[in-house]
Amino acid sequence: MAEDCIFCKIIKGDIPSAKVYEDDKMIAINDVAPAAPVHVLLLPKEHTRDVTTADAELLAYMIGKVKMIAEKTGIAEKGFRIVINTGDDGGQTVKHLHIHLIGGKVLGWPPC
Ligand code: AMP
Repeated sequence: MAEDCIFCKIIKGDIPSAKVYEDDKMIAINDVAPAAPVHVLLLPKEHTRDVTTADAELLAYMIGKVKMIAEKTGIAEKGFRIVINTGDDGGQTVKHLHIHLIGGKVLGWPPC
């Protein structure tokens, strides 16, 4: 838990969110500014800033939940994209590791 982290506050319940999934290690919420018809954020409950080797197990766990959450939100059949923005050049605005799960329309490529 980091005092000044908005995602930690969401996980704690101090800031409301539209929860799609929760277990002991993570939550999944609807993004407040969706980039597509379905835009879910997968957040580890443990505050970790970005992708390091120490996070490999946690990331693998969360990626293991992607298909189930995609099915739950109705985007599994037609396809979706998962994205992890890291650092300033990567466009990371919230410094708490998270996976974007985006779908519900044909997504452009490259993303920038
Ligand atoms: P990133 O830019 O990769 O760090 O992603 C942060 C994401 O968090 C953005 O897509 C924001 O729209 C989203 N976001 C910020 N605040 C909230 C919030 N209170 N509830 C849901 N999503 C949020």
